[in-house]
Formats: sequence, C-alpha cells, structure tokens
Amino acid sequence: MIDNIIVLHLLLIVLIILFNIMLIVYIKNQKNGLERLKKLNDDFKKQIEKERKAEEELSAVYGQLSATEEELKQQIRELKNHEKALKISEERYKLAIDGANDALWERDYVNKSFFISDKWKSISGYDDTDINDITAYIEKLIHPEDIKRAKQEFESHIKGKKDYYQSEFRIKIKDGTYKWINNRGKALKDELGNVIKIAGSVTDIDETRRIQNKIRYLAYNDSLTALPNRIIFMEKLEDAITKNKEKKCAVIFVDVDDFKLINDILGHDYGDEVLKNIAFILKNSLPKNGMIARTNGDEFLILLNDVKDSNEISSLCDKILNNFKSPFTIKGNRVYTSVSMGIAMFPEDAETSKELLRNSDTAMYKAKNNGKNTYNFFNKEMTETIIRKAAIEKYIREAISKEELQVYYQPQIDAKSHRIRGFEALIRWKSVQLGWVPPNEFIPIIEENGMIIDIGRWIIEEVCKQNKKWKEKGYKYETIAINISPIQLHHHSFMEELEQCMASHKIDAKDIEIEITENILMNIYDRNIEVLKRLRDMRFNIALDDFGTGYSSLSYLRVMPITKLKIDKSFIDYIETDNNNRDITEGIIELSHKMGMQVVAEGVENENQLGILKDMNCDSIQGYYFSKPLPKEQAEKLLACNKV
Ligand code: C2E
Ligand code: CA
Ligand code: CA
Repeated sequence: MIDNIIVLHLLLIVLIILFNIMLIVYIKNQKNGLERLKKLNDDFKKQIEKERKAEEELSAVYGQLSATEEELKQQIRELKNHEKALKISEERYKLAIDGANDALWERDYVNKSFFISDKWKSISGYDDTDINDITAYIEKLIHPEDIKRAKQEFESHIKGKKDYYQSEFRIKIKDGTYKWINNRGKALKDELGNVIKIAGSVTDIDETRRIQNKIRYLAYNDSLTALPNRIIFMEKLEDAITKNKEKKCAVIFVDVDDFKLINDILGHDYGDEVLKNIAFILKNSLPKNGMIARTNGDEFLILLNDVKDSNEISSLCDKILNNFKSPFTIKGNRVYTSVSMGIAMFPEDAETSKELLRNSDTAMYKAKNNGKNTYNFFNKEMTETIIRKAAIEKYIREAISKEELQVYYQPQIDAKSHRIRGFEALIRWKSVQLGWVPPNEFIPIIEENGMIIDIGRWIIEEVCKQNKKWKEKGYKYETIAINISPIQLHHHSFMEELEQCMASHKIDAKDIEIEITENILMNIYDRNIEVLKRLRDMRFNIALDDFGTGYSSLSYLRVMPITKLKIDKSFIDYIETDNNNRDITEGIIELSHKMGMQVVAEGVENENQLGILKDMNCDSIQGYYFSKPLPKEQAEKLLACNKV
C-alpha cells in the first residue's frame, strides 16, 4: 500500500511534474503565442499604418490626378476655345483677304514660294497662278513712264534706305488699259541682312487717283476756261525768275474791257461764254515761249519766257489787239470785245513775282485810262497812278454829301447860225483833298465800283432842275444832253427813276438828250436796242457819242433809234490835214442825214475846222472854239444873249 501510496504519490508527483511541465510548456507556448500574437498585432498595425499611408498617398495621388484631370479638362476647354478662336480668326483672315480691297502677296525666298490672293484677278484681270515674283511680274506691266521710279522705290526698301516699300504706278491690265495701283510691302531679313521674305499688298487706287487728279486739276486749273490758274502761274513765274536769272521774262496783265457790263446785263451764263471765247483767242495768240492763266474774273496773265526785247512784247500785244477786232457769235449775238494790257518786265521793272504782278496791273490800269483796247509798259511813275486811284475811290464817296460835285454845260452851236442849240452836261469834281479831278479819271473808277449809279442819278436830277429853270425863263434852245454810262443805262431802276425825275420836275422828254458811247454799244447790241427803243418811245432824244472810235458801222445805225451822231474829236483834229479823214467825215454826215440823224462835231477848236464842217453841212459844233464847258451861271449868260 505504502508502495502503492508511494507509487501513487510518486505517480502523483510525476503527474504534477508533468502537469507543471505541461503548464510551463503551455505557458511558454502561451507566451510565445502571445508574443507572436503581439508581433502579429504589431505587424498588422504596421500593415494598417502602411496601408493607411499608402491610402493617404493614393488619395494624394488621386487628388493630384483628379486635379490634373480638371486642369486637363480646363486645358482641353481652353484648347477648344483656342481652336474656335483660331478658326474664327482664320475665317476672318480669309474674309479679310477675300474682302480686302488689296491683293495680299507674300514671297518666301527660302522656300521659294509665292502667294497672291484672289483679289489680284479682280484688280488686274489676270488669272496667273504661277507668279513667283510679284515685283518682276508687275514690272513687265508697269507703264513706261512709271517704271524707273517704281524700281527705285523698291530698291530703296531692299537696300534698307526705307523701312517700308511703297510705290504708286500704272500697270497695263488685261483689257489693255492702264490702271493705277499702290504696291506696298515689307521685307524680312536674316542676321546677315539677306532678304528671306517679303510680304505686301497691291491696292487698286485707280478711282482714288482719278478723283485726286480731278481735284488737282480743279485746284490748278480754271474750270471755266480750262486755263491754268493763279497758283500755276505763280509757280511758273517763280521758276522763270529764279532758274533763269540771266534771261528776261515779262508778265502781261490782260483785263477785258467792259466785261462787268456784259456780265451784269446779259447774265453770268452769257458772260461765261464770252470769257471762254476770250480765253481761246488769247491762248491762240501766244508764241511758244508764252503761257497764259486766268487769274480772276475777267483777268488773265501771260508769262513770256526768254524775252529778247520789248519789241517782241509789243508785237505780241498788237497781235492780241488785232485778234479781238473781229466779233464772235454767242447764242446768235455778235459780240465785240477788247482787252487792255499792262506789261512789267523782269528784271528791269521788278525783281520779285509779286512786284511783277503789281506793276503789270498798274500798267494795265494805265491802259484802261488811256481809253482801253490798248497796252502800256510799266514805268516807275505809274505807281503814283495807283495811289491816286485809291485816293479817288476814298474821297469820291463823300463828294455828293460834301457838295463837291458840279454840273458844267458846254454849248452846242448851230454850224450856220452860230446860235446855241443845246448843251452837253459834263460833271466836274473839285475835291477838298485832291483838287480838280477830271471826269475821265474818276468816271471809270466809279463805274467799276458801282458808285456811278448814285452819282449818275444826282446828275440827272441836277440837269432836270436846271433845264426846267432855263425853259421857264424862256431861253430858246432845244436840249441838254446827259452822258449816261452803260452801267447806269442798264441798271434795273434806271427807266423808272428817269420817269420819276421827269415827272417831279415837269420836264418834257424831248428837252433831254441821252448820250451813250459807241464803244459799248456793240457789246450788248440787242439789249441796247431794246433800252434805246423804250427811251425813244418816251420821246427822249438819243445821241451816239464818240462816233468813229468804236466798232459800230453805219449799217448798225439803221436799226438803232438814234437821233444824233457825235463825230469824235479825233476825226476833227485831222480834218484840215488828212484828206482821208475829211472824206470819211463828209461821208458820215451825208449818210447820217439820209438816215434822219443830226450830226454834231466834237472838239472843234478853230475857225478853219468850223469852216470845213460848215461846208460839209454838219449841223452843230461843240468845242473850245465857241466855249469850254461852263458853270450854270456862265452858261446862262451865254443863253441870255442867244439870239433867236
Ligand atoms: P465826252 O462825253 O466825249 O465829253 C467831251 C469831252 O471833251 C469833255 O471833257 C469836254 O470838256 C471835252 N471837250 C469839248 N470840247 C473840246 C475841245 O474843243 N477840245 C478839247 N481838247 N476837249 C474838248 P470832259 O468834260 O473832261 O469829259 C470827259 C469825259 O468824261 C466825257 O467825254 C465823258 O465820257 C465823261 N463824262 C463827263 N461828264 C460825264 C457825266 O456827267 N456822266 C458820264 N457818264 N460821263 C461823263
Ligand atoms: Ca459826251
Ligand atoms: Ca464825246
């Protein structure tokens, strides 16, 4: 038993030991397992951490990726927009090329290519697609007159003298005519300065050029007569006196006589036609070294280059005057015109163009004063004439109000009985500042500035008053003649005012004689007849003054309602010495009588002349031989002794 117990104990002990061992092993194992577990746990944790990190990284990458995608999308959107814009711009560019007025061209020297837009065809009519050098190509078409310049202009850009190439020239287009184009361009160069590309455009500027030319033409030419205008004249004159200093030149100032009258009475359209004819006559009178311009209204300027002497100018002026002797016909009317000319020479008379013009104008004014239809060379004393003219113009304005004007009366004597048959009223002006100014001097001035209307009205009034007084006093004479300027005669209110004056002074028209000059008569022939017939119908007497100095012939007188003819002093002056003159005078008197006109001889200064005229049956005599024009008081004294 003990044994058993011992054995049992022993067994138990063994068992306990075994158990302990097992427990230890177990615990050990357990510990190992735990450690492993711990490790596993750690590993797991690590793994999780790793994965978390990886996930974080991934999400960062994903984030990045999605950002990139957004960017990409944005970029794509932008690209698309860009493409769209590019397309629009391309379309626009194409439209611009197609629609542009210009043909666009580009020459690539590296690729050896050439492009020109379709517009070229519509500009030139050519359908060439194989052009490889626009400039060479166009050169073949350039107008011969433009080619040299066009080439120079191209070269100057290529050589770098000009930043841009620009050249305007004419090219021969398909239909064979020439057209103005503007070729522009710019060259692109490499570092060595070699041209690698030129691009440019061809513009059709034909229309613009035409308009430009028209404007230039209008700016430099007178549109009425097609003659050059003042600008061109001054340029040529300037050239003549600066470029050819050793050579003489001359300016001839030409002014149409009594043009204002033609214009005022017959209208501007008619006046224009007259000017055209005058321009034609003047132009055709010129020698090769002459040029003419119309500078103002009825003023023309002639420039004579390379003049030898004054004789050369005189013969030209004589030729011009002669060419105006025959009339020209406008709208069925024959028109006689004449011109007055003034000449200034370079370098004798003036050294500058302005001075030459001024002096030729002064000389022309002198020619007007000398009776028109003539010419004068400038001389230094003439400048005084101009100063005087200005003074006359100034002071005559106040002549009526300051009572500086007077009417003088020159008797017309019966050639046989020596009785006073009438008077001619002649104006006198004694200016406070200028003293006596002869009517020949101031009347042309007041005709020009229109004051003749007021002064003429005043004269008529004075004469009517005087006539009434003398008639009332019972003096026996027929008429008082009043000189009527053509400007006055054709003034719209002339007739009306004349009638009123006659009525207010209770004067009979038969006691008044209207004197008109012959010179003017023919210019406006029809209109004159009309006015004169009306005057004649009113029973005014009508005298034709200065007969023999103008154009009219006796045949014209047949249709003119003229009652008296006044033979000009210039005939009477030579009546004693010149047989021809004498015969003409006799003929005039005879014919006038046959036509029912009385004849007065003007400017009779001596008995001899009187005798001759009396023998010729001249009706009346007017002249210093009997009496100078007299103030009314002295004229009245003569009347008082006028025997019946
Ligand atoms: P006219 O109508 O031919 O007048 C005749 C001119 O000859 C007058 O000059 C007169 O004084 C001048 N005369 C008369 N007999 C002789 C003579 O025997 N010898 C010389 N040497 N001369 C003589 P006047 O008064 O100086 O007038 C000159 C011109 O002025 C006139 O020429 C006329 O055309 C114009 N005139 C004068 N008064 C008037 C006027 O009241 N109205 C207009 N419209 N013109 C006038
Ligand atoms: Ca007269
Ligand atoms: Ca006269």
